[in-house]
Amino acid sequence: MRALVKHPGEVGFRLEEVLTPEPGPDEVLIQVHTTGICGTDLHIYQWDEWAQATIPVPMTVGHEFSGYIAGVGSNVSGFIEGELVSAEGHVVCGHCRNCLAGRRHLCQQPESIGVSIPGAFADYLLVPKGNVWRHIEGIDPEIAALFDPFGNAVHTALEFPVLGEDVLITGVGPIGLLATAVVNHAGARNVVVTDVNAFRLDLALRMGASRAVDVRSEDIRQVQKDLGMMEGFDVALEMSGDPQALQDILDNTIHGANVAILGIPSEPFPIDWTIVIFNMLNLKGIYGREMFDTWYKMNVLVQSGLDISPVITHRFDAEEYEDAFTALQSSESAKVLLRWSD
Ligand code: ZN
Repeated sequence: MRALVKHPGEVGFRLEEVLTPEPGPDEVLIQVHTTGICGTDLHIYQWDEWAQATIPVPMTVGHEFSGYIAGVGSNVSGFIEGELVSAEGHVVCGHCRNCLAGRRHLCQQPESIGVSIPGAFADYLLVPKGNVWRHIEGIDPEIAALFDPFGNAVHTALEFPVLGEDVLITGVGPIGLLATAVVNHAGARNVVVTDVNAFRLDLALRMGASRAVDVRSEDIRQVQKDLGMMEGFDVALEMSGDPQALQDILDNTIHGANVAILGIPSEPFPIDWTIVIFNMLNLKGIYGREMFDTWYKMNVLVQSGLDISPVITHRFDAEEYEDAFTALQSSESAKVLLRWSD
């Protein structure tokens, strides 16, 4: 089968012929239909410091995917061959305190498909049976391939109640765009997004933002006034990893605001803790998806009419992966897909 393999000491991937894997007793073999390219994949592609310290090479990468059940191990039953599925990319240990308590998203030492174990940029991949997400018949395979980043967005966006609330989203990369659609669908009053990328700000308006603010030229306080807001945003979602964005949140939220933080900073940075303390802000870090509450919510959101397809800006055949990574690095892209089969 074909696989995009990362080799040490070089930028990029190699599209190679490798052996199709055989499912172990508790594993499921999935024929990949569509994969999404994540920022994580770009770090691995570019072979930066983080990637060099993290990725066991050579290894097949990729973790956002949808596909069809193509085989099961001897301990696996209940799946239907040809059934459309996606899968949770965090493979939990099963025996730490949180895993035993059923809080698998808080596992002490999860493996990660396409990061620490072989991934989905291939014609087939193996997934532990407990990671497979089923019951997505009727959902477009391209949308199902987005369930990993969509899950990050849903997990963050629904961490706090947003019905009737004024929500500030800092950073509209693909996950920020998806979160914009979710909070709008979930009944937020105003959804104000910030970024420095004109293409993505425009896309955010199409995905339900009330206002898209270019922080290089516009002032968030003025936007609050324009919208008739009195005291600040009730909820903020930090999705950029940018220190200034977190400061913008501290400066523009009400006392007691709920702040969910998903964006990963490239390095540690100081913040004004006096604002957090005096304003009694509630800061919550978010990682991954809740297994499988977030997945259930994704199904329901899509089935109740939430259209997340505008986030898809590019589609390529797997063979054109170089073009796909070029598109991903352009300023006029959001989610870039690779197609592996029909
Ligand atoms: Zn665990």
